[in-house]
Amino acid sequence: MISADDDHFRDECGVFGVFNHPEAANLAYLGLYALQHRGQESAGIVSVEDRILHTSRGRGLVADVFKKSDMDRLKGRRAIGHVRYSTSGGSCSSRNQQPLVVDTYQGGIAIAHNGNLVDAIDQRKSLEHRGSIFQSTMDTEVIVHLAALSRRPEFHDRLVDALSQVKGAYALLAMDAQCIIGVRDPYGLRPLVLGRIGENGWVLSSETCALDLIEAEFVRDINPGEMLVITDKGLQSFTPFPVKKRHFCIFEYIYFARPDSTLDGVNIYETRKKIGASLAKESPVAADLVVPVPDSGVPSALGYAQEAGLPFELGIIRNHYVGRTFIEPQQQIRHFGVKIKLNANRELFKGKRVVLVDDSIVRGTTSKKIVNMVRAAGAKEIHMRISSPPTTHPCFYGIDTPTRHELLAARQSLEEMCRFIAADSLAFISLEGLYEAVGGQGQGYCDACFSGSYPIPSPETSQGLQLSLLEELE
Ligand code: SF4
Repeated sequence: MISADDDHFRDECGVFGVFNHPEAANLAYLGLYALQHRGQESAGIVSVEDRILHTSRGRGLVADVFKKSDMDRLKGRRAIGHVRYSTSGGSCSSRNQQPLVVDTYQGGIAIAHNGNLVDAIDQRKSLEHRGSIFQSTMDTEVIVHLAALSRRPEFHDRLVDALSQVKGAYALLAMDAQCIIGVRDPYGLRPLVLGRIGENGWVLSSETCALDLIEAEFVRDINPGEMLVITDKGLQSFTPFPVKKRHFCIFEYIYFARPDSTLDGVNIYETRKKIGASLAKESPVAADLVVPVPDSGVPSALGYAQEAGLPFELGIIRNHYVGRTFIEPQQQIRHFGVKIKLNANRELFKGKRVVLVDDSIVRGTTSKKIVNMVRAAGAKEIHMRISSPPTTHPCFYGIDTPTRHELLAARQSLEEMCRFIAADSLAFISLEGLYEAVGGQGQGYCDACFSGSYPIPSPETSQGLQLSLLEELE
């Protein structure tokens, strides 16, 4: 879950698949390496050779999970992989690592899922009443059990049967002895792209940055509600689900995706710069320099500085070597806090009026520490600018978020938040400004964590809406 010193929403997962390449598992390894930002708690690869599924999974980063001996075992011309940051299903114990692999009466199947099913608990209870025995606590296993109950002969039809019964977000890869399937939920909440490699090879990936690494050619985004089935006969596209209005996660453009990716035709880096420029137009301030909170605030700070005609400076330096194995200092020296990861460059800040640009405020704890650090480094004024609208609602579609009452913007007014983080001024981009940067509201985005307008209702969202109504009445 989110630590106090890393106050961001957390992407849950990345998926990557390779069809028809002699180095399928090695390419999957590299693909997952490029998608590491989408999940750091566990990684896994499953390959197929002569109808046999080979599996390697483990806790930690891609580079630590797979040893040479593991890669040597992952034989075959097809592979799917997964990196995970846990939300639904909690911990990343070995039974909660993906790809999920099961033996069915029609052979072994593997599934890698980015997203979250909003009805997973009810589905699970109902399946358990019908005799299903669950091996993990992941919502993805619901899909596997529903597919196993289908009596249709083709794997992709059984998967359609399963996915037609669930509600939620998924960009999903599935593999059996014959095919690899890539499918996106009808709202297109989570990203999935198609690429080509070599003569007859195909690649499926959460983001285009992973295609670049393995020198695969980008073909197109998988459409919302589309299922691609790739076999030795070629690639087939189906649209087996009722059409819904597209609701691609707008937070991918603000924070989750890598800046060198292009998703649904929109380049992440350029969009973040545009968001920064809109922010400068909406909330200008007299200042001497613009400084990003690294790393995610960099492109929007650049956009802000260019629009405002102010110098852009890397005034905060990030230590890139603070790993997950970092040992907390003893109580008496704990006050180092955020400085272990970020340090202010004193020479730049002395006596200056600073615009600090970050991508979001979740609990506000880290923003407060950063503002304090910059002030202690000698800044005269600190004006915080945020490249997302206030985050007032949790996400139920595959992003790890705190509960609503932990979100600073759900509890406090703009003035209260500004006081809480101890800045001289605070401004967020408006939802309209954000839409302008991503090409307009008509393109179809999910913005529920800013607006509370959830495209797929769930028991939690209804409960959340009821709670917010009660709060408003009080
Ligand atoms: S609620 Fe927010 S984080 Fe979740 S899918 Fe919608 S826009 Fe993305």
